[in-house]
Amino acid sequence: MIKVCKFGGTSMADGINMRRIADILADDPARRYVVVSAPGKRYGGDFKVTDLLYDVWREVEEYGFVGEAYAKVGARFSGIVRELGMEFPIDEVLEETARAIEREKSADFTASRGEYLAARVMAAFLDVPFIDARDVMKFSADGRLDSERTYALVREALKGKPRAVVSGFYGETADGKIKTFSRGGSDISGAIVARAAGASVYENWTDVSGFLACDPHIVASPVGIRSLSYKELRELSYMGANVLHSEAIFPVREADIPIRIKNTFRPQDEGTEILPTSKYRYGDRVVTGIAGKKNFTVIFIEKSLMNAEIGFTYRVLSVLLKHSVSFEHIPSGIDTMSLVIDSDLLSHGVLEELCEDIRRTVRPDSMRVFNNIALIAVVGHGMSKNVGTSARLFDAIARAGVNIRMIDQGSSEINIIVGVENENYERTVRAVYEEFFGAHS
Ligand code: ASP
Repeated sequence: MIKVCKFGGTSMADGINMRRIADILADDPARRYVVVSAPGKRYGGDFKVTDLLYDVWREVEEYGFVGEAYAKVGARFSGIVRELGMEFPIDEVLEETARAIEREKSADFTASRGEYLAARVMAAFLDVPFIDARDVMKFSADGRLDSERTYALVREALKGKPRAVVSGFYGETADGKIKTFSRGGSDISGAIVARAAGASVYENWTDVSGFLACDPHIVASPVGIRSLSYKELRELSYMGANVLHSEAIFPVREADIPIRIKNTFRPQDEGTEILPTSKYRYGDRVVTGIAGKKNFTVIFIEKSLMNAEIGFTYRVLSVLLKHSVSFEHIPSGIDTMSLVIDSDLLSHGVLEELCEDIRRTVRPDSMRVFNNIALIAVVGHGMSKNVGTSARLFDAIARAGVNIRMIDQGSSEINIIVGVENENYERTVRAVYEEFFGAHS
């Protein structure tokens, strides 16, 4: 049996925590392959090494060489090596890395060095081989991961190695440059290694004991989610439940490998298990979890006989394509349609240009823009089986005195998304939580 374990930034934050990792690995011999993040924050107000490295990149861009920010990165790694009491040539490695950063002149290369250094130190500490993600994680010319090649290379690299440490977060492009995944992307690296290694489980070790039914900053001590399907995970993590990167699921899903979220600081806690939808039993649970995000813009388009105008939606979407703007949802009625878009994508005049172009292209009767919309996703396989779930949901929101600006039920029937004003976001999440998980639910 093989378990692949990914350890996040807090688990890697200092030498003391890295010792905890060694203990966790020693506890179970099946935990053979390890993927690590760069050291994260040690305490509130501290810096993540990856953020410091983006500062390093700004220094290199401006002055051509590394400066103060790199000294901070160096201090973090020297501290770790000291705390671990290791014989490791950290000064030399830091010096080499500084020169490489100045030579490569790339933001991604610079940012990736946190994982590179962390994995080298961890491998030396555990006395197991280090596998550089650059040699095994490959992107194709279109910038997407070349999965087949990557799986084959990872498999090849692991062959004959009973244990190994792989650096997370980055890989190499077709023209030999380092490219990182998006932030938090070591979760994806871990999933890739789990898939390539044919792991029986992908353990993702973090600083919380799994998923909670909603954001603990909004509801005090929400209930934990013991198990979750891949589909539910995708919905919840896409909508802001940020325990796991929302794309980490794809490599393991192809091979039906379950994911287990575990807490490095409370390894005895069960955590959350994420299972293939076919193997997942939700029992009589109606809602599995609630997640949400603020700051969306809704462009509302109205035109009489829209339903009969062939190609109307096509033409609206072609305007989005032209402006390279992606949308989240398009709830529509007979003569109306709304485009729900992340407001960040519409800054710097993009919204105005987009609206003008839509007006010109489809000549609507009217068009209105609503800013500051928050979306709340209520997710659960149980919803489709339980009559009256949406009535309970809307009733709870109405009782909280919140006006719903938009409703969208995903075609998979495992989620209902409601749009409310940003200022009503927290109140709505609380009301929904109380309805489905509260004492009287
Ligand atoms: N270190 C990277 C970040 O901070 C990647 C990761 O931790 O997964 O985003």
